[in-house]
Formats: sequence, C-alpha cells, structure tokens
Amino acid sequence: MHHVVIAGAGLAGVACAHELGRKGFDVHLIDRNDYHQFQPLLYQIATSQLPAEDVARPLAAIFAKLPNVRVVQDEIIGMDLAARSVTVRSGAEYVSDYLVLAAGACANFFGTPGAEQHSFPLYSVADAERLRRHVRGVLEGTAGSTDVVVVGGGPTGVETAGAFAELFKALRTMKHRGGEAEVHLVNHGKALLAPFSERSHVYAFDKLTAHGVNVKLGVGVTSVGADGVQLSDGSTLTTQTAIWAGGESASPIAHGCGPTTGRGGRLDAAADLTIEGYPGVYAIGDVANIPGPDGAPLPQLGSVAQQSGVWAAHNIEREAAGHNRKPFHYKDKGIMAMIGRGAAIAEVGAHRHQLEGPLAFAAWLGVHASLLSGAHSKVDAFMSWAWDYFDRDHAAIVECHGDPKRIVWGDDRKPTIDAAASS
Ligand SMILES: Cc1cc2nc3c(=O)[nH]c(=O)nc-3n(C[C@H](O)[C@H](O)[C@H](O)COP(=O)(O)OP(=O)(O)OC[C@H]3O[C@@H](n4cnc5c(N)ncnc54)[C@H](O)[C@@H]3O)c2cc1C
Repeated sequence: MHHVVIAGAGLAGVACAHELGRKGFDVHLIDRNDYHQFQPLLYQIATSQLPAEDVARPLAAIFAKLPNVRVVQDEIIGMDLAARSVTVRSGAEYVSDYLVLAAGACANFFGTPGAEQHSFPLYSVADAERLRRHVRGVLEGTAGSTDVVVVGGGPTGVETAGAFAELFKALRTMKHRGGEAEVHLVNHGKALLAPFSERSHVYAFDKLTAHGVNVKLGVGVTSVGADGVQLSDGSTLTTQTAIWAGGESASPIAHGCGPTTGRGGRLDAAADLTIEGYPGVYAIGDVANIPGPDGAPLPQLGSVAQQSGVWAAHNIEREAAGHNRKPFHYKDKGIMAMIGRGAAIAEVGAHRHQLEGPLAFAAWLGVHASLLSGAHSKVDAFMSWAWDYFDRDHAAIVECHGDPKRIVWGDDRKPTIDAAASS
C-alpha cells in the first residue's frame, strides 16, 4: 500500500489522515504534540472559559479505530521535497510516496522590537495556557498595570479583546480584584475586521467600544517592552500583557525546503493542492497559499484547512489509482466573528449575506461544530457550552473559582499539555 507522510496534525492534517486512513493508506502523521488543538477556541482558554484539555484531543484517541494511521510525536526539523522525506528531531527520517505539508502558521512580528520577547501570541493551547496563567498572576499581583493591550484588529484580535472585556466586566460586577483592568485594541489599519464589509467594520467597532474596549485605529505598534507598548503616534500604553494578533506567517518548516515561498511566507499550492515541480508533494491549510476561484489565495480559515485536507486525500487516492487529480473546490461557509456575549457578526454565502447577534452566533456555532466534528465527538456538549456562554455571564465565576465550565469529550486518555511547547 502507498505510504503517505503528513507533516502537522491540525485541522488540515487530521482531515487528510482520516480520509486516507479510511481508504487503507499507510499513513505517518507527525506532530510535535500528541494532541490535536482547535485554534478557534484558544481565547476561551486564555480567558478561563474553557480548560485546555477541552480544546485539545489526543491524536491516539482520534485515530484509535484506524491502526494504519501511525501518530509520531516529534519535531520536524528538515524536509527534502524532491525526495519526499521528512527528518525529525529524534533523528528518524520518513521517506514517502506522497508527502503532505500541513504545518500551519505562527505569529509574524514583522521585526517589531521586543514583540517576540514580551508579547503573547495565540497559536497553541500552550500559548493560551501561558497567557491565562500570566493574566491571573498579574490580577493577583500588587505591582504594575493590569490592563491588556491586543495588537491587531482582525478576527482573532477582535474576539480576544471582546472576551477579555467580558471577563473584566464580570469581575467588576462581582467586585472581584482585577475588575478595574482595561482592554485596549490597537490596529494599524483604519477598520476592524478588514476582510468584512463596511457595515461589519462599524458593528464590530460599536460592539467592542460598548463592551468597554478602547479601540485605536490607524496606529501601529513600534515596540513592545515588559511594561508597555510604544505606538506610532508617539504615545505609550502601560501594560504587562500585550497580546499579539498582528499577523502570521507559515510555519518555519516551509522555508528552505525547496520551493520559493510566496505571500505570508507560505508555499504556493497549485489548483490541485500539489506543489509545482515536486511530484507527490501537497500543501494544505495555513502553510499554503491555496488559489480560490478568482486565483487569489483563500483566507487562513478552519474550513479551508479541513476541506483542503479531505481534497488532498482524494487527489492522492486518484493519483495512486492512476487517475487525474482534480482542482480544489472550496465550499465557502462565509466569514464570522464572535465579538463578546450577545454580539456576533457573520457574512455568509457567495453574496456575503450579513447576519448580526444571535443569528450570526448560530452561524458561527454551526461552522465551528462542523469543524470540531472531524476530531471531537461530543459536539453537542460544545453547542450547549457555547449557547450558555453567549446567553449568560459565566466569566467571573470561572476566573474566581478556577473551575472552568467543561465540555468533557469523554476520552479515556487526557492530553498532557506542555506549557513550554511552542505552537
Ligand atoms: C487564535 C485563533 C483563532 C482562530 N479562529 C478561527 C475561527 O473562529 N474560525 C476559523 O475558521 N478559523 C479560525 N482560525 C484559523 C484556523 O484555526 C486555521 O486556519 C486552521 O487551524 C489551520 O489549520 P492547519 O491544519 O493548516 O494548521 P494548524 O491547525 O495550525 O496545525 C498545524 C500543526 O502542525 C504542527 N507543527 C507545526 N510545525 C511543526 C514542526 N516543526 N514539527 C511538528 N509539528 C509541527 C503544529 O503543532 C500543529 O498541530 C483561528 C486561528 C487562530 C490562531
């Protein structure tokens, strides 16, 4: 049977492995973690709404019924695309008939002095846990500012700022320490949620400011220090907690593996998800620039990652059977963001029909439940937790008692989350 190596077990890699595993392919799925992490729920960990174990699921449990998918927990340190081989830190080398690159993205600090050392990116459960523990320590401490500065006004920045504002508001209501903390969002561009429509820009701005977030638009961050953030307008925001949602680039393993990287340091995939000039090599999810119907790259979204994973598996199957590969067809689910309790925005369908409030939240929930269903079995538990959050005020209870609401996926193995591990 054909041997496939998949580099990265995020939404794209897991979807691909699942599909190939079901068809009987011999698969090695390599990731530095022994668990799959669901990035869209990371800020819920950071704001204590969910425990880390509920956002990560052991890969062994996901592939328990597919013994031909062998999970390797190791760090990929080198790749030779011409030879379709991957080298891992322990020294082993995996040579394959088909190589699928699915290593995702990491923060891009754009060379901003101090950003890498002092800010908190949000790409893994380890990042989210580190941020949660840091915020807790700052709130319990006696010195320094308790304010939070979110850098970047895209969906991650907006959702994270909204969630922290909710948390501090709830703490204030309960007269708990930390309630006086403020949330600032700094965005280089003139609008929040840039890929959305003008109406959504205004909705996001109004909702965030109504939640108490101080939004600064058209201002860049020029440096980040341990006690503050310098802005391009000459002002400083005092903070010990700068959250970096200011941009991303492909996982470093995309560099130096053969092809020249394109926009965002990503690998340019062909329409059928292969990499031109490297037979048998595919690039999917956030590590790739995947052309959309108009030729422009599709956005870095969970549904693009998952669907490209399944499509790459089907193309490998076709190739292995001697048939032609097919160009990737993306079923566009729209773009959406949850801004805080009671506030969400969605633009769905080809004509980007705009939804706000509970309807938009229902759309957000549907898309995320479908993304989760590939790797987590208890989607109904997620749905009931999410409605509960959208409707009620749990944040302060969670933070004060340190007993986050649980989804409980019902796995017999709990993942071990190494806070020192990187994304
Ligand atoms: C905070 C945040 C919130 C988001 N919210 C949403 C949302 O609400 N809706 C939405 O649709 N999308 C959202 N996204 C985007 C979405 O999560 C991504 O598009 C999707 O996860 C990409 O999947 P992927 O498999 O390509 O990469 P990832 O999910 O990042 O997986 C990559 C995997 O590769 C592994 N890896 C990387 N390098 C190495 C190495 N050298 N060795 C071994 N393993 C390695 C990583 O450990 C990881 O498991 C969000 C992203 C972030 C960061």
